[in-house]
Amino acid sequence: MRRVLIVGGVAGGASCAARLRRVDENCEIVVFERGPYVSFANCGLPYYVGDVIQEEKKLLVATPELFQSRFNIEVRTHHEVVGIDRAAQEVDVVDLQAGRAYRDRYDALVLAPGATPIRPSLPGADLEGIFTVRTIPDSRTIRAWIEERRARRAVVVGAGFIGLEMVENLARRGLEVTVLEAASQVMPMLDAEMASYVEAHLRAHGVSVHTSDPVAAFARTADGALKVTSSSGAEWEADLVILAIGVRPETGLAAKAGLELGSRGGIRVDQAMRTSDPHIWAVGDAVEVKDVVTGEWCVAPLAGPANRQGRVAADSIAGRQPAFRGVQSTVVCGCLGLTMALTGATEKRLKVWGGCEYESVYLHPGHHSAYYPGAKPIHMKLTFRKPDGLLLGAQAVGEKGVERRIDVLSMALQKQATVFDLEEAELCYAPQYGAAKDPVNVAGMIAANLLRGDVRLARWEEAPATDAYLVDVREPHEYGAGHVPGATNVPLSRLRSDWRRLPRDREIWVYCAAGQRSYYAARLLAQLGFAVRNLPGGYQTYKAFALRGLTKP
Ligand SMILES: Cc1cc2nc3c(=O)[nH]c(=O)nc-3n(C[C@H](O)[C@H](O)[C@H](O)COP(=O)(O)OP(=O)(O)OC[C@H]3O[C@@H](n4cnc5c(N)ncnc54)[C@H](O)[C@@H]3O)c2cc1C
Repeated sequence: MRRVLIVGGVAGGASCAARLRRVDENCEIVVFERGPYVSFANCGLPYYVGDVIQEEKKLLVATPELFQSRFNIEVRTHHEVVGIDRAAQEVDVVDLQAGRAYRDRYDALVLAPGATPIRPSLPGADLEGIFTVRTIPDSRTIRAWIEERRARRAVVVGAGFIGLEMVENLARRGLEVTVLEAASQVMPMLDAEMASYVEAHLRAHGVSVHTSDPVAAFARTADGALKVTSSSGAEWEADLVILAIGVRPETGLAAKAGLELGSRGGIRVDQAMRTSDPHIWAVGDAVEVKDVVTGEWCVAPLAGPANRQGRVAADSIAGRQPAFRGVQSTVVCGCLGLTMALTGATEKRLKVWGGCEYESVYLHPGHHSAYYPGAKPIHMKLTFRKPDGLLLGAQAVGEKGVERRIDVLSMALQKQATVFDLEEAELCYAPQYGAAKDPVNVAGMIAANLLRGDVRLARWEEAPATDAYLVDVREPHEYGAGHVPGATNVPLSRLRSDWRRLPRDREIWVYCAAGQRSYYAARLLAQLGFAVRNLPGGYQTYKAFALRGLTKP
């Protein structure tokens, strides 16, 4: 009988094992897991720390017994695979509880060892009370630490999605939370101006946020607290520290066995998730895959891709011809009532790649019809290729309805939709859920108007230094409450009578609150013969840029 060994029994490994059984009843499947659990919900760990998930057993999606009884899959927990003999098609295994080493043979081997949280080699980084979050025992220890020591203050190092989920859950437990981020923005996977909504929200909810200041050292104070010192010399005291500064693909086994690794530090695989050895497959956080937008190799440590890759590897082992499509890095994260999500490429990423011309539009629609009570704004950014409008990426931040829009856009992106397709998307609508023109439609319309030449866009980054004549078309009371320095107020409601006040010899840049009224103004002025551009997303987008200091000349 064919013998398939799987190293790692969580997202990628467990889904590979279960899928393989469904497509091949006639093989032996053994899963080796060095930890105490298989198939546990790592994504749920922050919520166990926050006591949203109160019972540890709820984190266990499946047990070794269930794998055995339901799928005839043997799971060996506390068993670490420490070597691969590719010539003999055998692995070296250590039974960690019995302290016994042995060999096992395979016809097919799947590596799903995941990734390791990065622990920086800084002074004091190994002190008690400094945690990473990867396993159930990690979260159990953090919970116990908070409870037994009555912790009041926490420092979270790293403001990516795991860091922010920890911020939320520590705050939920009543701790004072400080978040330290080496990059110049929180949620570095978003573009900077989009991250400014997140940063403002964190501050408004009492989180102390410090960016552009990498942590330099940890120490213990005389009264037993932890002291975190940054490169600038700033210091924070805390009762516990969470390190959430990213993960590194676990490639030790693969490297030792001479499997090809890629430039991004992951195991190289083909579209069937097969490594450079035809008898070995690899999936999940440990591998490099192709980014669907840029076609470049990337690592995407996310549960969705790990699960899908597990299925692809299983199908391939079973003799089918599957092809993993690549990753879009579709991510969602919630923190203290705010949701942020993205799919595809950010502008930041596209700038580094340099592979195509693109444009971005901004919008701030309500998550449902404005007339139905409780509409909350969604701040959206849509990035697309010029001139054909191919969707390249989307980002959204808001309190409600964010993930639904990004999910729609994610599927559109995977199917290579254009902004013209988004204009036509038929999405479900009733007042309490959306709008007859859903934010996805509106994003498509704004972008399509641009590509059809109905309107030209200006860039907020260039506004402070431009020679253009800046016009704020909002009503005087809105202008009075705050406006872009140097802007003249000519409200849209008076533009048809007042346009003669505008200079003919200069380009006119118009803005309003969110970009809609200024679009009307731009259409009117263009038809009157003015050289006019619209500033995308209006004053709301301006404030997002200004907060990040991105509009300084
Ligand atoms: C706190 C946290 C929150 C997250 N939240 C989200 C989220 O909301 N959304 C999302 O998409 N992703 C999230 N992720 C990421 C997601 O959990 C991972 O991308 C996914 O689990 C990767 O699956 P994997 O199978 O590659 O690795 P893992 O799930 O990490 O499993 C690898 C397993 O292999 C075992 N192993 C390693 N080496 C060996 C060996 N030599 N022998 C035997 N066993 C070995 C390890 O013990 C480990 O249990 C989160 C991750 C964490 C840590």
